[in-house]
Amino acid sequence: MKLIFLGPPGAGKGTLAVRVKELLNAPHISTGAIFREAIAAKTSLGLKVKAIIDSGKLVDDETTIALVKERLAQADAQKGYILDGFPRTIAQAEALATFSPVDTVVNFDIPDPGVIERLSGRRVCRKCGFNWHTVFNPTKQEHVCDTCGGEVYIRDDDKPEAIGKRLEVYREQTAPLIAFYRAKGLLVDIDASPLVDEILISFKKAVGLQGL
Ligand code: AMP
Repeated sequence: MKLIFLGPPGAGKGTLAVRVKELLNAPHISTGAIFREAIAAKTSLGLKVKAIIDSGKLVDDETTIALVKERLAQADAQKGYILDGFPRTIAQAEALATFSPVDTVVNFDIPDPGVIERLSGRRVCRKCGFNWHTVFNPTKQEHVCDTCGGEVYIRDDDKPEAIGKRLEVYREQTAPLIAFYRAKGLLVDIDASPLVDEILISFKKAVGLQGL
């Protein structure tokens, strides 16, 4: 099953994707995570995108589309995948349709206050990328990942000055994708406000996977 997880930053797309990828045995492809890995490794891509990402703006379409096209050409993505954080513009969605049309787009519906609460408490493991939360899912020991022992940190773009910018960018550039995919009959909506176990139930219902 080829899936897009669409929704504002902090809607819980990455957290749900970790659960769904095990159910579907499909790769979780997060463009944000690929960019963060490139930044950590100081590759030419990482150096090019670091300032843009830290400010909360979007990386240009050409760079992002090329990256996703290459990733989706790999063997593990042929039967299905979960795209998290891509597409984020109409141009990206149109490009994706030419090289890998998707089956379903899951729209994570959550009001702004919920997003701000999630982003401001989010903590990410530098080593395994797992998303923790100071209130909803705290690590046992501060700054240390329970799963892999890696350092748990606050993403620069989760700092208050970048959160507002990211929500504005989402509204202007990404939210139009909701109407775009609805018109194509591909969109399903899920209420993303509850905790992940409940969202998983809504997700299974929405995509017809109750048996799993
Ligand atoms: P995320 O982890 O999905 O919140 O992404 C973190 C940041 O990476 C975003 O705020 C953007 O700067 C950049 N990014 C991720 N995905 C895309 C995309 N599809 N198009 C442009 N920029 C992106």
